[in-house]
Amino acid sequence: MPRAASNNGTLHTLRTREMRKKTIDNFGAGCYKCHLLMLQATEKIWMNGAFVKWDDAKVHILTHSLHYGTGVFEGIRCYKSDLGSAVFRLREHVNRLFESAHICQIQIPFTREAVIEAILETIRVNKIDACYIRPLAYLGYGAMGIFPKENPVQLSIAVWPWGSYLGDEGLKNGIRVKISSFTRPHVNSTMVRSKTTANYANSLLAKREALKDGYDEAMLLDTDGYVAEGSGENVFMVRKGVIKTPPLTSILEGITRETLMQLAVDRKMRLVEERFTRDELYIADEAFFTGTAAEITPIREVDNRAIGSGKPGPVTKELQAAYFDCVYGRDNTHKDWLSFVHAG
Ligand code: PMP
Repeated sequence: MPRAASNNGTLHTLRTREMRKKTIDNFGAGCYKCHLLMLQATEKIWMNGAFVKWDDAKVHILTHSLHYGTGVFEGIRCYKSDLGSAVFRLREHVNRLFESAHICQIQIPFTREAVIEAILETIRVNKIDACYIRPLAYLGYGAMGIFPKENPVQLSIAVWPWGSYLGDEGLKNGIRVKISSFTRPHVNSTMVRSKTTANYANSLLAKREALKDGYDEAMLLDTDGYVAEGSGENVFMVRKGVIKTPPLTSILEGITRETLMQLAVDRKMRLVEERFTRDELYIADEAFFTGTAAEITPIREVDNRAIGSGKPGPVTKELQAAYFDCVYGRDNTHKDWLSFVHAG
């Protein structure tokens, strides 16, 4: 079972307490942002084919990716579904991990099947029903110039319990968003189709700015000034009965985005992939973020302007409910999206 932060007196516990205090100092007690940082340790982390204890999952300080941002990673969720613990869209996430690596010319030294099995085994070993899953492929210790020469490619898989990323309150009533002063990278800059750690420097700047300014999340525009995505989510808006989401140019090809599009098609809703401006977002009837961590989070305000009634609208609510039906195994038409942790 996951260790409570107060168990064992480990280094992890001390760090968690310290982080919590700092967050409370920054944002005030009771704020969901405090829970965000309270990483709850599990027992073991998979590293390069073997399990190591949580506190022993360490790398050398001269790990290449730590310096130059060349890691590629995934964020996946396992839910305690009505049919047993199940990872949502596992194969699609592992495919994206390999595609990210391919874009960055990183050769993961395991097959896709082996990574899928290692993820399921990591969940089983940690005896956890529901968790967030973080595979990370990175360039290890070796050369220290920018060119990584023959530095070994390493792969780790960690799992831990993680509640709603933007808070239960946000999931229910919607969040407040700020258009970021930071722009999404140009399509020819850091390759946003790849989930590369380097891209998250941009996300982090935007997120920090938004939180410091009292908002819940940042909305980044692309280099042409159109709405792109959140710091870790894709975005949808609804106006005059049409659902719109930005096309796959300067955004991550979100798996939740694709899931939502399928759910909208199933329900014969009108949906287009089309660029839109921030002022069109201001006058949307509804808007919401999608992401593995953020799930389907309604947006109730952008730049202090209420979106629609300022409450989650009917389309958002219907699609959010449909999404949760899928992840919890209540939707018979999309059972193939679930990979069960315990066979049989
Ligand atoms: N955009 C960015 C920048 C993200 O980090 C994420 C989270 N992976 C998403 C969108 C949503 O992607 P997904 O639905 O696959 O989690």
